[in-house]
Amino acid sequence: MEEDSFILVHRDDGCQGDVSSNVSQNLLSEIDSCIERFHTSLWPLNKFIHENPELAFKEYKAHEILTNFIRLRKGWQVTTSAYGMETAWVAVYDSGNPGPVVSFNIEMDALPKLGHACGHNLIATASLAAGLATAEMIRQHDLPGKVFLFGTPGEEGIGGGKIRLLEAGAYEGVDISLISHPGILHNSPLVRTTAFARLEIEYFGRAAHAANSPWLGVNALDALIIAYNAISVLRQQTMPSDVIGMQITNGGAAPNIIHSYAAGVCVIRAISASRLKELQQKVSACFRAGAEATGAREEVKIVQGYADHVPNRVLAASYTKYWNLLPDLPDPPIPSRDQFTWVNASTDQGNISYAMPSVNASFAITPGPQMGQPHSPDFEGASGTKGAFVRALRVGKALAGTAVDVLSIPGLINEVKGQWRRDMNAIEDGYTYCRVRATPTRYSCDLVSRELNSSSKLRTITNPNNPAHPNSGSLVSTFA
Ligand SMILES: [Zn+2]
Ligand SMILES: [Zn+2]
Repeated sequence: MEEDSFILVHRDDGCQGDVSSNVSQNLLSEIDSCIERFHTSLWPLNKFIHENPELAFKEYKAHEILTNFIRLRKGWQVTTSAYGMETAWVAVYDSGNPGPVVSFNIEMDALPKLGHACGHNLIATASLAAGLATAEMIRQHDLPGKVFLFGTPGEEGIGGGKIRLLEAGAYEGVDISLISHPGILHNSPLVRTTAFARLEIEYFGRAAHAANSPWLGVNALDALIIAYNAISVLRQQTMPSDVIGMQITNGGAAPNIIHSYAAGVCVIRAISASRLKELQQKVSACFRAGAEATGAREEVKIVQGYADHVPNRVLAASYTKYWNLLPDLPDPPIPSRDQFTWVNASTDQGNISYAMPSVNASFAITPGPQMGQPHSPDFEGASGTKGAFVRALRVGKALAGTAVDVLSIPGLINEVKGQWRRDMNAIEDGYTYCRVRATPTRYSCDLVSRELNSSSKLRTITNPNNPAHPNSGSLVSTFA
């Protein structure tokens, strides 16, 4: 707490600071002090969410405590159970003057049997703190624009709460989307995540006695096994960042029957949405091979998962500036400028990043005794600690700084959008991202031409955003 640095009179637990015409010089300490002021009220809220884990789309308690908390803050309009989802919500703070519209997403869901082992309580804390501080900066400095807080349910599994909100039009008119995610390895605002999809395969054959008259049957299990083996063979020809996992969920009825039915599930991940599409076509061909070889009929159901996350460099630069200038800089440092951080997981914030400029900042909390990553019991414990909460507040400060930069620096929003358009165009033009091992435990990645990326030699990196990038033109022996 740095209450001594406050000058003006305390009003609820909002933030008061010295109103200055030179916003940028004072912003850092004002945002820092503002969020510190929320420390005592946010800690019990963070603790409550952590101690009351709720599954995807059943985040009733979190929905209630968060919306009640914001409703008490001056100037916020809150909509509960928004866009047809019981646990989705929207809170808006409007300056009354036209300007950029910034937003923060708040995840609330936990994992079956593991509680808050993905630390979404910390995501909620960071985004909530950031949203409240941004609103205070608008109020104190007469900034234009609006702040949105979105309570986004169901991120775990393939819930896709953010996709539902996106499709329902919740983000219409919103210029940027900011969020964060805890882990134990990285501090980085330039985070790439994987795209993934789930393919459910069913084969329909014809039953027959396996000893008496097998020639009358059509073996659905054989079709599935052929597909399984074809996919296993395919794996040698995929890119190192492609992941294919397969499970047989129905292997037939009994060993003395020619199986009339068999089923399986395949989960595929790739470095970009466009690469995922290619991989999906290759896996579908393996499914067809099983049907072709046996005569069984195949039915494939494709459940689209999440798109990869495309981080915005301009927003990330703001985040880094605030993160690095705040006191007590934690380890590890944010990678040097323009270095992406690869997180081998998927999020529906990826789909948001294809709709608008986005930051999904990774932040490292102190690990538990087993050094458990997210989705482990160890991480569940780590994400409930005071230290993790304090780290989430730091993230909230850097996210707020990023939003306030967009609201207060003339022309910055155009720069952010220009970068987003270049990223989207590059992806459409066939550029994809290359995964580069930076250290044994950390990856970075960058935009490269797909032609080169597909080549086993991968001699040259072409970065359409920044030809002078340190990796451009250099040999990158990757994926080792
Ligand atoms: Zn998770
Ligand atoms: Zn998560």
